[in-house]
Parts: sequence; structure tokens; C-alpha cells
Amino acid sequence: MPFRLILSNAMEKKLVFATNNQHKLQELRQIAGEGYEILSLADIGCHDDIPETADTLEGNALMKARWVNERYGYDCFADDTGLEVAALDGAPGVRSARYASETGHDSAANMALLLENMRGKTDRSARFRTVIALIKGGETHCFEGEVKGEILEAPAGCSGFGYDPVFRPEGWSITFAEATPDQKNEVSHRGRAVRKLLEFLKSE
Ligand code: IMP
Repeated sequence: MPFRLILSNAMEKKLVFATNNQHKLQELRQIAGEGYEILSLADIGCHDDIPETADTLEGNALMKARWVNERYGYDCFADDTGLEVAALDGAPGVRSARYASETGHDSAANMALLLENMRGKTDRSARFRTVIALIKGGETHCFEGEVKGEILEAPAGCSGFGYDPVFRPEGWSITFAEATPDQKNEVSHRGRAVRKLLEFLKSE
């Protein structure tokens, strides 16, 4: 299988990111900068509902990357993110997308349940953790990023996505949802994991 992290010319490298989440794609494209063209699943004609049934972030990231690699032949990377809250013993964690319902991806419901479960808790500390799995040339590499912070008592801000309105990074006076994309990317879990991925790719 040819290495499809294509060096189409000296200036432009194509990377398949196993997601159709427009927010994530936008963040990735911004972090990766002009040297990379980030392709989504739709861009490569993949419209599958890829299972994410592992019990770790790493397991889910690997599951998604392998799905694309094995069925579509592309070298690619996939990510999985969890919000880990100390007072909830690490929940919602790997279940962050499906916290409020099995069908998942209802951010408003997820945040409402989180705030409900955090009512009266004095320890508000939490962290976002992202694991990126890259499958390239048949080899697997994982990159991790995290950002510590705390869960507010009510949402603030309307940028970003997911749990951003209730998460305030350590040392900040605003939530991720009140930050600009650049401010968020500079310290975020995904920003950190992606920069590790890019450093690895550049070192090859
Ligand atoms: P997944 O990595 O897309 O499976 O994300 C798991 C859950 O975490 C989903 O509910 C996302 O909305 C949420 N999530 C992922 N990344 C972020 C982020 O950067 N900020 C806030 N929520 C996020």
C-alpha cells in the first residue's frame, strides 16, 4: 500500500483525518497551517458510521484510524477526546460524546447533565485529554495532549463546541467558548496532540 500522506509537491502534504466533525477539521486546519491539506472522511468518499466502542480514548482513536486504513487504503490519523472530571471519578471520560444519551453528540444535553452531576461539588477540577492515532506505512503511532482546568457552574460563551462553554483552562479568566480559535488551539488538548503529530511527521 503506498504511503498516502501524499507529498504531492515540496510544499503541500495531504493528511486524511478520520472525522467529519467540522469544528475539529477547522481546528486541525488552523493548527496544521499552510503546509498541509487536511482531508476529511467525506473528502475520500467515506460515509461510514465508524464504531467507537473501545473503553479507552486510545482504543477508539485506533479503531477509527484502522477502519479507514483497512477499508480505504489511506494512511491517516484519528482522534478521540474525553473530558475527565475529578469529582466524578474521571467521568464522562471516554463516554463524553454519549454522556446524556446513547445516540450521542447532543452537546447541550451533555453539558446539562454534567452541570447537574456537579451541583454542590467543591472540587471542580477537570481535564480534557486527546489521543491521536496515526497509521502510516503499516505502523501505528499515538500522540496525547491534555489541558487542565475547571468546570464552571453555568455555561459562558458561544464559540467552540462540545463542553467548551463550561470549561475554563487553568490560569484563564474565560472559558474555551469565550476564547478565539487561536487562543484555544495554543493551550488545548487537541492543539498539543496535533503539534506532537506534526513534529513527528516533520521529523520523518
Ligand atoms: P470525540 O473525540 O469527537 O468523540 O469527542 C467526545 C466528546 O467530547 C464530544 O461530546 C465532543 O463534543 C467533546 N469534545 C471533543 N473535543 C472537544 C473540545 O475541544 N472542546 C469541548 N468539547 C470537546
